[in-house]
Amino acid sequence: MSAYLNVVDIFGENVFNDSVMQARLPKKVYKELKETIEEGKELTLEIADVVAHEMKEWAIEKGATHYSHWFQPLTGVTAEKHDAFITAPHSDGKVLMSFSGKELIKGEPDASSFPSGGLRATFEARGYTAWDCTSPAFVRQDAAGATLCIPTAFCSYTGEALDQKTPLLRSMEVINKESLRLIRLFGNQTSKKVTPSVGAEQEYFLVDAKKFMQRKDLVYTGRTLFGAMPPKGQELDDHYFGTIRQKIAGFMKDLNEELWKLGVSAKTQHNEAAPAQHELAPIYAPANIAVDHNQIIMQTMKRVARKHELKCILHEKPFAGVNGSGKHDNWSLVTDDGINLLEPGKTPHENVQFLLILSCILKAVDEHADLLRESAADVGNDHRLGADEAPPAIISVYLGEQLEDVVNQLISTGTADHSINGGKLLTGVRTLPNLAKDATDRNRTSPLAFTGNKFEFRMVGSRDSVASPNIVLNTIVAEAFREASECLEQAEDFEMAVHDLIKKNCAEHYRIIFNGNGYSQEWVEEAERRGLSNLPSMVDAIPVLISDKSVKLFEKFHVFTRTELESRVEVKYETYSKSINVEARTMVDIASKQIIPVVIRYAKSLADAINSITATGFMEVSVERELLEQTSKLLKDAQEALSLLKQKIEIAAKMTDGREKAEYYHENVCTVMEQLREPIDKLEMIVDKEIWPMPSYGDLMFEV
Ligand code: ADP
Ligand code: MG
Repeated sequence: MSAYLNVVDIFGENVFNDSVMQARLPKKVYKELKETIEEGKELTLEIADVVAHEMKEWAIEKGATHYSHWFQPLTGVTAEKHDAFITAPHSDGKVLMSFSGKELIKGEPDASSFPSGGLRATFEARGYTAWDCTSPAFVRQDAAGATLCIPTAFCSYTGEALDQKTPLLRSMEVINKESLRLIRLFGNQTSKKVTPSVGAEQEYFLVDAKKFMQRKDLVYTGRTLFGAMPPKGQELDDHYFGTIRQKIAGFMKDLNEELWKLGVSAKTQHNEAAPAQHELAPIYAPANIAVDHNQIIMQTMKRVARKHELKCILHEKPFAGVNGSGKHDNWSLVTDDGINLLEPGKTPHENVQFLLILSCILKAVDEHADLLRESAADVGNDHRLGADEAPPAIISVYLGEQLEDVVNQLISTGTADHSINGGKLLTGVRTLPNLAKDATDRNRTSPLAFTGNKFEFRMVGSRDSVASPNIVLNTIVAEAFREASECLEQAEDFEMAVHDLIKKNCAEHYRIIFNGNGYSQEWVEEAERRGLSNLPSMVDAIPVLISDKSVKLFEKFHVFTRTELESRVEVKYETYSKSINVEARTMVDIASKQIIPVVIRYAKSLADAINSITATGFMEVSVERELLEQTSKLLKDAQEALSLLKQKIEIAAKMTDGREKAEYYHENVCTVMEQLREPIDKLEMIVDKEIWPMPSYGDLMFEV
């Protein structure tokens, strides 16, 4: 039996958190740092020096030899450069361990290889990392020893954001300001801050490490590019919430322990719908911390998997025909004194504020549905959105029966005087019903569902950072809040004005509400009738970032400049093209070097069999003949598609315009990749398993 694990004791033991700071920093320094963290006050170098020194001492006690500014460039993963704490040796040959305030606050990685979309020419490659003191530093223990990781933002020499965190922090300021302004109108004079709270549920697959390594497609691209369906898939629904196998349980135990030490509140774990698929959900946290924690979760999953001779697959669609993985981004707005602005509330007074906020969110989402969809655009997610079990690429909002009924009443009669579910009504403030928490939500097909006291955005890809969706949610909702405040601040009769505004928002943006089955073809048609945007692929979605509407929105709130948006567009097209190129070349490699030779060998064995059996003079060979015919036909199809794919790759390689190139990959290269896959998957069902050059879907998913 393993030793008893005291979760309370280990939780956050590797985090330079508030209690550590309180215990170790001089009172005055602690107070000033707290003010920086909570109120955004500027940090003086003098204070930073003291903090850095204590942080270093603490980290060294945890075994740290290095520190690292840990940041999130536009590659989608995190980046880090490690510096040892050592100083230059003294004349006696000894070194000291040092870490200054300057080193804590600002780093200067040689950043010329990070994607910047032209924001930073290579000859001027300086990028700066700046400490995000609102997300605590932590010591990470791994094969490199222990490293003090300092969550940072990453900017160019001229201050343009080169990362996910900078715009996220900007958007958090914006939503804070506009939320406070709005709730002041409802008489709240006490809350000092409104923070978007985020809980990101993470889906992932675990497969045997040895089998993983035998598949070049998994190694190079994170997903299978070939693979026939096993006889059993997920049709029996026996994996979802099923008993967790011992090997997986061991992994989860270690994972939780590591995460808890890093202050990540891993809370829920269960098996997901597909075989070998699982989920982990942490308790929600302020958006920037939640984004950092999600990165830590993904990294830790990979590291811990290795210890258990497993591989953690985070790709959105590792296996065709089987559920993909996503990330549910749960989002709400919470004040520093603990009020959740998305909580319907118990009194009519709270109801009015809630309904206004809800109507603003409907407006925001309807007006910027394309932007929200773009925020979940990711190469891997193209295989998922709209497919089995994933939300469609069309944005709509699910409110649940009760709320939708209230909205309907508001629109049709201008008043809502009853609430279904038989709840008692409190109509103290003109004609709005009291709302009971809606327990009926279980519409899993909606991309954006209201789930009691939060919105759950279900489009995000499993590998992707949750930064972008939260940047978009924060900013679009801030815009709707600002417009509401501007209208209400001028109103003579506040109550009436609120009532009218709720009605107006609901009526004008009613089309975004959809409670039906989001996976159905009827919805695609219905959405088109409603005029909702449908951007099926990443390349369709990217241009939205620089539409006039988006640029206006982001510039108005100083979340992105036009230049920053343009650079992101460039980076995204490039990422898309490069990823598909790697996939296509991997397919060519596997097909030509591994699969086709094996199929030829198999065909030869059939031909040999036919010859020798025929030579006996008394046996018929119709089965062998038929198999050989099928095999040869499929082999020919595969070879043709392979040649075509090579041609397309060459054409694409010569293209220079970012957008045209990405579109070419999407429309031409991806299509031929499908053409190549088809005959090969059929061949896998024919060719002797003994000689098939890689583990099958069944081997990967059912033999973990
Ligand atoms: P589900 O039915 O989707 O599994 P859960 O209640 O388990 O729902 O919550 C899923 C996620 O939502 C968790 O990460 C949780 O921390 C997060 N969450 C819960 N309440 C909020 C909130 N008010 N704001 C943001 N996230 C929240
Ligand atoms: Mg959920």
